[in-house]
Amino acid sequence: MKMTRQIKVGNLPLGGGAPILVQSMCNTDTADVKNTVEQINALASAGCDIIRVAVPDFEAASAIADIKKNITIPLVADIHFDYRLAVEAAKNGADKIRINPGNIGGDDKLREVIAVCRDREIPIRVGVNSGSLDRELLKKYGNTPKALAESAMRSVGLLCERGFENICISIKSSDVFKTVQTYRLVADMCDFPLHLGVTEAGSAEMGTIKSAAAFGALLVDGIGDTIRVSLTDDPLKEVIAAKKILKALDLHTSGVNIISCPTCGRTKVDLISLAQNIEKRLSGVKAKLNVAVMGCAVNGPGEAKEADIGIACGKGEGLIFKRGEILYKVKEEELADKLIEEIEKMTGEKI
Ligand code: SF4
Repeated sequence: MKMTRQIKVGNLPLGGGAPILVQSMCNTDTADVKNTVEQINALASAGCDIIRVAVPDFEAASAIADIKKNITIPLVADIHFDYRLAVEAAKNGADKIRINPGNIGGDDKLREVIAVCRDREIPIRVGVNSGSLDRELLKKYGNTPKALAESAMRSVGLLCERGFENICISIKSSDVFKTVQTYRLVADMCDFPLHLGVTEAGSAEMGTIKSAAAFGALLVDGIGDTIRVSLTDDPLKEVIAAKKILKALDLHTSGVNIISCPTCGRTKVDLISLAQNIEKRLSGVKAKLNVAVMGCAVNGPGEAKEADIGIACGKGEGLIFKRGEILYKVKEEELADKLIEEIEKMTGEKI
């Protein structure tokens, strides 16, 4: 486990062993406050912890003040090139600034951004992208993980040399291997919290798979403090995919993880419908629970016992297990309802 130092984004701790935070980015026009607020609140309800908005001009930077009044999650202002937009966004209540310190036009401007962020205790996310590596590094290393890692550390150095260490780092590549190798290098070079992402990952299905492959390789080694699944799709799908990836790694802090078998010639109930029905009905549960839905007596009782609660089916019926104990036997038609009844008792939540 790689322990990073902890920073705060709004009221949320990031890094230093805090839960992995899920991020997404609005695709609305930031200056359109109504639509942006609506999207942020929908994403927050789906489990987004931190939201980023593009700040391409002063209209967008000023809109941040009104957006912030109507949302509950921390907001990151995404800025390229123009340091004045970073200053304006920070003054208007942005909780974090995403900027590349190397491309905002020199020392004076960087110092101004640092001053306003320091005053307001706002972290800066240093973002490095494999598509915009500087020429000297490209010449020295080619477009490689080493070049990306060094580029990130140079940007971090620009802030640290000026006494600013409230930093989070992201290094983006659309290549899964390169992403993993670069983050591993950076994790060895510093202890700043890391924002994981595979950039330009593609459509919902393939983009989710690429992100899961990269995040999985890193998070199992304890590398990564916040994640963004970037998809060419509705940002809501990014949040759902991120939550599922965290569940798959048992790094989620709430929600149900279903353990269900693939079915085979031994299955004597309609397990596919049963598992789908149960997953759907439990999708709003807040408590962190592992729920097993298993097809037969071969692996079923074992898995159902390991899970917090579960079903092991037989011929047209099934056993319900809770925390390793058999509760009772139920007919196939009543299995989902009974399981849900038991989960309601366990969690105190109305499902
Ligand atoms: Fe088949 Fe039973 Fe395994 Fe399900 S748990 S795949 S029914 S052997």
